[in-house]
Amino acid sequence: MVSATRILATDADSPDAAVIAQAAETLRAGGLVAFPTETVYGLGANALDARAVAGIFIAKGRPAGNPLIVHVANTQAARVLVADWPGAADLLAKQFWPGPLTLVMKKSALVPDIVTAGGPTVALRVPGHKLALAILDAAGVPVAAPSANRSAQLSPTRAEHVVRDLLGRVDVIVDAGPTAGGLESTVLDLTTTPPRLLRPGLVSPAEIEAIVGPIERRPVAALDKQPLRSPGLLERHYSPRTPIECLAGSGVPRVTELTHQGQRIGWLRLAATGDVVAGVTLVLMPDEPAAYAAMLYAVLHELDAAGLDRIIVELPPRTEPWLAIHDRLGRM
Ligand code: AMP
Ligand code: MG
Repeated sequence: MVSATRILATDADSPDAAVIAQAAETLRAGGLVAFPTETVYGLGANALDARAVAGIFIAKGRPAGNPLIVHVANTQAARVLVADWPGAADLLAKQFWPGPLTLVMKKSALVPDIVTAGGPTVALRVPGHKLALAILDAAGVPVAAPSANRSAQLSPTRAEHVVRDLLGRVDVIVDAGPTAGGLESTVLDLTTTPPRLLRPGLVSPAEIEAIVGPIERRPVAALDKQPLRSPGLLERHYSPRTPIECLAGSGVPRVTELTHQGQRIGWLRLAATGDVVAGVTLVLMPDEPAAYAAMLYAVLHELDAAGLDRIIVELPPRTEPWLAIHDRLGRM
């Protein structure tokens, strides 16, 4: 069982060779290493070692039915993990790897069942992060790495978020500052025709379609209910601990109502409109999707730590550049 966690700090762009070596050695020895990628921090284990991978499920409290994304250093390392490497994978890997696109393909016999939750497919990507690539390269093994948080909680975008959730539960936490992307990767299933979007992320459907033609898009779940809570309709995931409500339109009436009830409110708005409600923790979010994504989880972690009664989010526009953000907000 893990008890002491080593926290190793280094620079993301010129990573310390000793930190890379320690992280890689821990992975090769079957240990658990949290490290930054360009999306969020991941909790990694040697994907070829079923015992090591079991440690991820234990540390996170992750249900065994939820498969893991396997991170590799390059396309060659991905190819040996699949039974069949389709032409679309070639085109997409050339265009988007290293980067935040995960491809689901038929797994090869090398991949232990625990990685894929018993299923016949494996999810693969090459992360676009210098330190993550250096660790993968030095480890010389594929690394299964879901987000480095307790199951169903907010994903971590800073090492301190990982520390809060996983200290004493993992062997190493590599701290290389905030992640640039802030949201999880796009997941695309290449075992269906046409390919199917399983999770929207930092690579948009339009960018994918420009390379491989039309894909099947998962409909964005109904988000416009006021308030959003529709138990059973949406999978709860990616959640802050504080109750959260997402609203289409102005949050002023709801925030005013809750404040009059004596509730302490955190309020995410897209831009200042001049309507102010006194005594509320107001966060002005960027009105550009990439900038919004980069700070969303960090803001929610901070509001969680502030011990508020409720978080109100004014939903961004319902246009495709906001697809991934709507998806995550819809499952909080
Ligand atoms: P996380 O690692 O927490 O960002 O979540 C990984 C997600 O990737 C899972 O919840 C699935 O949605 C997706 N995923 C991983 N492996 C597979 C697979 N073999 N088939 C379909 N989806 C997958
Ligand atoms: Mg996750």
